Amino acid sequence: MVKHPFRENLEVESAADRQWLRCANCGRRLCALGQDWKAAALRKVFSPAKAGPLMKILEGRYLLEKIYCPSCGVLFNAEMIEEKHEA
Ligand SMILES: [Zn+2]
Repeated sequence: MVKHPFRENLEVESAADRQWLRCANCGRRLCALGQDWKAAALRKVFSPAKAGPLMKILEGRYLLEKIYCPSCGVLFNAEMIEEKHEA
């Protein structure tokens, strides 16, 4: 089995027939490589102020999105995303 890091706390596992993206911390497989791993993970959205008081100016325009492992809860990704205002 070959493993190599994909990003922090995520790694690619090469199995016999296909490659999987999995949690580097607990080994939970999220999805096949190339699929939307964020959809398979746990996603939470916070107010930007959660990232620090200076981020408060972004409130109403951006959201802090965090992606966790659904199994062990380790953080895969955190980024500011534009808040969508549906008309
Ligand atoms: Zn995990």
